[in-house]
Amino acid sequence: MEPLKKEKFFQAVQEAQMILVGIGREFAPDPGISQDQKELQLYKESAALEEISSGEEIFQAYAKLAKLLGHKPYFIVTLNTDGWIWKTELNPECVVAPCGDLGKMQCSEHIVEAAPIRDRVLEEVLRLGKDASQAQILDTLQRTARCPKCGKPLVFHTVEQEGYLEEGYLPQWEKYRKWLQATLNRKLCILELGVGFEYPQVIRWPFEKTAFYNKKASLIRINERFPQIPEKLSERAFSLGRSPVSFLNEL
Ligand SMILES: [Zn+2]
Repeated sequence: MEPLKKEKFFQAVQEAQMILVGIGREFAPDPGISQDQKELQLYKESAALEEISSGEEIFQAYAKLAKLLGHKPYFIVTLNTDGWIWKTELNPECVVAPCGDLGKMQCSEHIVEAAPIRDRVLEEVLRLGKDASQAQILDTLQRTARCPKCGKPLVFHTVEQEGYLEEGYLPQWEKYRKWLQATLNRKLCILELGVGFEYPQVIRWPFEKTAFYNKKASLIRINERFPQIPEKLSERAFSLGRSPVSFLNEL
C-alpha cells in the first residue's frame, strides 16, 4: 500500500471514467449540542443544523468535492444524517443517504418535513420554563410531535429510530445499485471520505469488495482514525490517515 500523495490523488480521479464516493462521520458537522436533555437533543440538533454558515469548512470541502467530480459520472453514498449534502452543489439525483436525515420526521407510515413540527416542539418546551421536569418535557414532545397527515406520533427520520421507514431512501438506493452495475469493467475511482466502522455493511465493506472485483478500480481511503487497507487490495489502494475535510480544503 502506498501513502497517498496529492499528485497520485489527482491522477486517480482524472484517469477514472466513473467515481464512487462514500462519506462518513468524519465529514459531518458537529452541532455542538450537549447531552443534558436526551429527548430534546435531536430537536436541538436538527434546528442547529439548519443554521448554516457557508463559511463552514465542511461546506467548503463539499464545494471542493463537487469541483473535483466535475462532469464525470458519480454516485455518492453518505452515512450522515445532517442533511447538509442536499444544500451543496452536488447533484441530489446522484446521492443516497440510507441512514436518513434530521431534516425529516416520520410516523409509522409517513415521512414529513421536520422544520415546522420541530420548531413548534422547541417553542412549547421553551414555554415550560427552566424548571420543567423531564416528564413534563417528554409529555410536551409526545403531544406536539404529531404527524400532520394522520396524527400519529413522530420521530426523526434516522436509522437509529425504531421503525425507521426505509422507503425514504430505497428509490435512490435502487438507482445506486444500477449505477454500480454499470461500473463493471470501467475505470472506477472509489473515494472513501471519513468512513469508519459505523454501518460497515453500507460503505466500507462493499466498497472494498467492489475495488477487489473490478480490476480496473482504485480505492482511495482518507480517514483520520481508520485508514487501514486490506492486504489483498494493496496494489490498487491508497490511503491517507487524516481528516478528509482538511485534505479537500487544501487541494
Ligand atoms: Zn402519519
